[in-house]
Amino acid sequence: MGYDPNNIFAKILRGEMPCHKIYEDQETFAFLDIMPRAKGHTLVLPKKPAVNMFDVHPDSLCAVIRTVRLLTPIIKSAMGADGVVIQQYNEAAAGQTVFHLHFHIIPRYQGVPLKHHGTTPQQDEILAQNAAAIRAALEKAGL
Ligand code: AMP
Repeated sequence: MGYDPNNIFAKILRGEMPCHKIYEDQETFAFLDIMPRAKGHTLVLPKKPAVNMFDVHPDSLCAVIRTVRLLTPIIKSAMGADGVVIQQYNEAAAGQTVFHLHFHIIPRYQGVPLKHHGTTPQQDEILAQNAAAIRAALEKAGL
C-alpha cells in the first residue's frame, strides 16, 4: 500500500485537523494521542511522508528517534511517570491503524495497567491540561 496523503496524521501535519501539539522541529512533530493508553501518551512523527518502517528514509527515521529520545525523559518527569514504553507498529496485521509512520511514547505508572490500543477517547480538556504540562516542562528545558 502506498502513502495516502489524506491520512489523518498528514492532515494534522498540514494543519487541517486539530491536535494537542507538544513539540515541533524542522523534521519532526509530536502531539498527544487522543485515545491514550496512559496519561501523557504521545506520538512522534517525521514530517516527510512515510507509511512505516518499510519505506521511511533512514535520515527521517533518525530524526524521529532523536525526538523520541529528547522528549521521553521530559514527558516522564512532567507526567510523574515511573517508566516509559516506546511502541511502533508496521502494517495492519501488526496493529498499525494510521498509515503515517509514528512512534508511541507511553508513560507507565507503577501498578496501573495500560488501556487497550486506540480504544478509549480522552476528554479534550484533560488532553489540553497534559499537553500544557508537557509544553511547560519542555520550555523549562529550553526547548
Ligand atoms: P497505530 O495503531 O500505531 O497506527 O496508532 C495510531 C494511534 O493514533 C492510536 O493510538 C490512536 O489512538 C491515535 N489517533 C488516531 N487518530 C488520532 C488523532 N486525530 N489525534 C491523535 N491521535 C490519534
